Formats: sequence, structure tokens, C-alpha cells
Amino acid sequence: MELPRHTLFIGGKWVEPVSGEYSELLDPATNEPIAQVASGGKEDTNAAVDAARKGFENADWRGMDPSKRGRLLYALGQLIRETFEDLARTESQNVGKPLREAKGDIAYVYKLFEYYAGLADKIQGDTIPVPGSRLAYTVREPLGVTGHISPWNYPLVLACRGIAPALAAGNTVVLKPASLTPLTALKLADLTAKAGFPPGVFNVVTGPGKTAGNALAGHPDVDSMTFTGSTETGKQIMLLAARNVTPVTLELGGKNPNIVFADAKMDRAQRGVMFGAFQNAGQMCWAGSRVFVHESIREEFMKKLVDATAKMKLGPGLREDSQMGPLVSREQAKSVLGYIEDGIRSGAKLLIGGRKAEDGDLRAGNFVLPTVFDDVSGDVRIAREEIFGPVLCTFDFKDEDNLVAAANATEYGLAAGIWTQDLRTAHRVAARLEAGIVTVNEFPVTFPQTPFSGFKQSALGHEQGIDAVDAYTRIKSVTVNLE
Ligand code: NAD
Repeated sequence: MELPRHTLFIGGKWVEPVSGEYSELLDPATNEPIAQVASGGKEDTNAAVDAARKGFENADWRGMDPSKRGRLLYALGQLIRETFEDLARTESQNVGKPLREAKGDIAYVYKLFEYYAGLADKIQGDTIPVPGSRLAYTVREPLGVTGHISPWNYPLVLACRGIAPALAAGNTVVLKPASLTPLTALKLADLTAKAGFPPGVFNVVTGPGKTAGNALAGHPDVDSMTFTGSTETGKQIMLLAARNVTPVTLELGGKNPNIVFADAKMDRAQRGVMFGAFQNAGQMCWAGSRVFVHESIREEFMKKLVDATAKMKLGPGLREDSQMGPLVSREQAKSVLGYIEDGIRSGAKLLIGGRKAEDGDLRAGNFVLPTVFDDVSGDVRIAREEIFGPVLCTFDFKDEDNLVAAANATEYGLAAGIWTQDLRTAHRVAARLEAGIVTVNEFPVTFPQTPFSGFKQSALGHEQGIDAVDAYTRIKSVTVNLE
């Protein structure tokens, strides 16, 4: 069977990559090829930035009434609703995630566009009292061309988290999706054209980070860079952008604590801990990969956790009864298995999992069993580094001061979960945790309306919520002498 072949979307047209090269995408559940995708490089990125600049200068976009811009975003949201099933199936197969999770992702995407559609005509400045007979006011203007580089774990959600506010503010977009999972971004390109966005407003260059992505982050005509991915790559993006003093928004890695107090509702906490660790096969920046359980409930909690983990059903994302899919690639599975071996060598106690799934059909795919470690020392690699796979490290705690110190003892500060029925404990501990997102009695959770933020090496700036628009606008201050 001939594989579908995807080109680049530049200036409102589908175009071949300059190199003429394509790369093959593999289904992570089977490692069989599913599509060919254009391997864009520097010249393609340059062409996309030029198209986005023309798109920005085009009066059809720049002069568009902001309410109309909002209606365009809303129309895009509606088209995503109409193609919901197809987008979810594509995401599920490409990433390997269960279809139920992929449907949640796509629903999140249309809600993002609908939310920012409503903000498009509410981006406004101030009038400012100044001495003398003068009128001083500020105007919020779009920046121009915004660059977006996104990762493979929630491909469309994480791309659109930046794209929706950027478009709402009147910018144009060049998106470089992760090379492993570009398919929904390409479908989005079609939908933007269908919704009526003028040519050049939305562009997609698929290809490797080291060529296409690098060229975007270091391009002198890009007015802002939004990057979601690993902390290591984020630092490189920041260096590249610094050459042109291009502002960056970075959403990076995490090693997040999920804390179960003695008075927590046990079953609910156990389900939440598993969801936080094994959803998307643990490939989450906000995975609750370090679980702290109060020593008084530890034995019972751990038994429930291990029993439930043993029952998890692995399978391809598109198979109805799959609760956990494969890892995205052979390389990712290899990296996660390396961490597991390292954990065993470090003396941590392996309670369950700890190997590749070898049963029947699973053997060909990148399936790793959900894994739980106990007796993990706080200073070993599995306790400190982001594993990005279905591996949970568990710790016990007695008193709150030691707990908070241990929970905060990483270079990251993205998310944290708290399970308790005592509101005083919840608010007190939430205030002490060094995390941009804290959730109580569910984990993890976020909405287009709530800021997605990270502290320390987990982020620079934040996305989502009303304020996210600020990162896609600049303030002009105008003072008029009235005499
Ligand atoms: P990654 O850093 O390897 O890649 C992210 C993107 O950057 C991809 O599109 C990639 O092609 C591109 N890229 C890679 N090298 C580049 C370079 N030198 N120049 C320009 N672009 C380059 O990350 P990943 O493996 O795709 O995703 C996993 C990471 O993302 C994890 O660390 C995870 O925590 C993080 N993440 C963070 C958030 C958040 O909101 N904080 C959300 C999801 C994922």
C-alpha cells in the first residue's frame, strides 16, 4: 500500500521541501510505516517566515476588525469539532495514546480556539494620567511573525496553546511540530484555510529540530518564539533567540511530586496517582512521577497501587480496551528502559513492571510495562531526572517540613498534587511547594482559562489564561501635547 505523503504548508499552499527529502513515520504500536512527511530544512523555514511576514503585512489580516478575527478563530474551533473523530484517531495512532485520551486532547484544542476567539476584541491599552495638558495612552499591538516549536507528547494541544492567543492578537504563525508527530498539525493547516484565514497567516514546516527548528529559533525576522519541549533544547532555543533579542516563552520539563496525606480519600488518591503517572504512558511534562505517601497509610496505599497497576491493559491506542499505549518511538523506549536498569542498579526496590512488554502483538511495538519503584533514595537518577515514561518512584514521609524539602529538591518546578481532606493542609502546603501548577484532590488538571506556568528550570513565562496574550503583543506608549 502506498503511504500518504505530506508536504509543507507555506503561504496558503502545499509545497515540496527544497531538499525533496521525506522521512517515514512509524506506528509506535507496531513500528510499521504509516506516512511520509516532508523533511523541511533551513530554506523551507526561511520561506515560511517570509510568507508569514507577507501574511502579517497583508491588509486582509492586519486591517481585519478584531471581532472578525475572533469569529475566524471560533470558526476554526467549530471545524475542529466537526473533524473531531478523524483528528483524535490520527493523534492516537501517531503518538500511540489511547483513543479516549486523544479525544480529550482534541476537545481541549477546540476549547482553546473558542476561548481565545472571545478575547480577540478585548486586547486593549490604558489612558494614563500625566502632568500638564497632555493625553497619554498605550496601545497593544501584535508582534508580527511568531515562531512555535512543539513536542510529541500532546502534539496538537501544545502547538495550539501558543498559536490560539498568537492569532487572537493578530500575529501570524510558523509552526515546526515535533518530527515524530506532525500529522494533526498538517490537518490543522487545512482547517485554517477552510475557516478563511488569509494565506501566510498560518504556516507549517515539518522536519528535524536541528535544521528546520534551529533555523526558526535563530531567524532574525521572527518576533517571538514559543517552545515546548525538554529543558536542554529550551536552553538552546533561548541562546539562538538571544542573537536577535527575540523574546521567548519556554515550557520545559518536570519531575513532579504527588503527595498523599494520611486523611486523603484512599481510593480516589490511588486512581489519581496512577492517572498522573501512567496517562500518555507517562510521557508528560507534568507527570506525577514522584509520589510521597504518609507513612501511616503507606502499606495499604502501596498494595492498592501495585494491584491496580498489575491490572492495566496495554495495547495500541486505537484498540478499544487499551488503557496504556506504547512509547512514542524505539529510542524513547530504550531511554526509559535504561532509566529502569539504572534504578535497579541504584538499589531501589522494583515493585512491578520494569521491562518491555513481550506478549503477543505487543512485542513489535514500543510497549514498556507500568513500573513502580519503592525505597528510592532521593539523590539517584530515577529520583531526580525526568524519565518521560511509565515509571513511578515512591517515597514515604512523616512530617510536613521534611516532605516539603524533599518535594522541592529538584531543578524543576512545574506541577504538584496534594491529596487531603483538610483545607488548611491543602492551602498551607500549596503555598510552600515550588511549582507553577498545584492541584488538590485531582492530578493533573488544567483548562484554557488557567495559566500553565512553571518555576525554576521548568519554564520561562506562562501560557493559557487571559495574560498569555501579553506574550504576543507589544505595548506602544503615545503622549500627545494638547497645547
Ligand atoms: P525536545 O526538546 O526533544 O523537542 C521539542 C521540539 O524541539 C521538537 O519539535 C524538536 O524537533 C525541536 N528541536 C529539537 N532540537 C532542536 C534544536 N536544536 N533547535 C530547534 N528545535 C529543536 O522534546 P520532546 O522530546 O519532543 O518532548 C519531551 C519534552 O518536552 C520533555 O522534557 C517534557 O517535559 C517537555 N514538555 C514540556 C511541557 C510543558 O508544558 N512544560 C509540555 C510537554 C512536554
